[in-house]
Amino acid sequence: MNNAPALAYIALGANLGDPQAMVRNAIAALDALPDTRLIRASSLYRTEPVGLKAQPDFINAVAAIRTTLAPQDLLCELQNLEATHGRVRSIPNAPRTLDLDILLYADQVINTPTLTLPHPRMRLRAFVLAPLAEIAPKLQIPGRGSLAAWLPAVANQRILRLP
Ligand code: AMP
Repeated sequence: MNNAPALAYIALGANLGDPQAMVRNAIAALDALPDTRLIRASSLYRTEPVGLKAQPDFINAVAAIRTTLAPQDLLCELQNLEATHGRVRSIPNAPRTLDLDILLYADQVINTPTLTLPHPRMRLRAFVLAPLAEIAPKLQIPGRGSLAAWLPAVANQRILRLP
């Protein structure tokens, strides 16, 4: 049985190989997921690595999708996409060919061992909040108020919007 269509926001990041091509391809691949349509995608952003500094800069973006996949099924599909794009899991914050996170799924609040929504670290990261604000400036975060109120706290993080 399909769920009602839900608007979800996906964060994309890559810093190996040709990360701009990787993120563009992944945005296109979101539109090809089962029961899913791409609604909007942000610009690409170049950002410094968080945590482990001795690695290439990241390319990040955020996409809005409409899907009837349940949240856990969507997570599985995103992990398949990561795998088919060659990601090898090693240490936390290590270089990666493609990282896909669910930021929000409609107004759902979920806390399971495999899925936390809203994404627990999104409010700390300019590379998530800036592209998200580009495509959804008036967004409300379930239980947490407005996205706009979070932006000043990450204003000191360097992030470059690519033309
Ligand atoms: P990472 O290596 O940072 O991409 O984290 C992936 C792990 O985080 C996976 O094992 C997921 O089950 C878990 N996870 C929890 N919440 C989320 C979320 N909102 N989006 C993506 N992965 C999540």
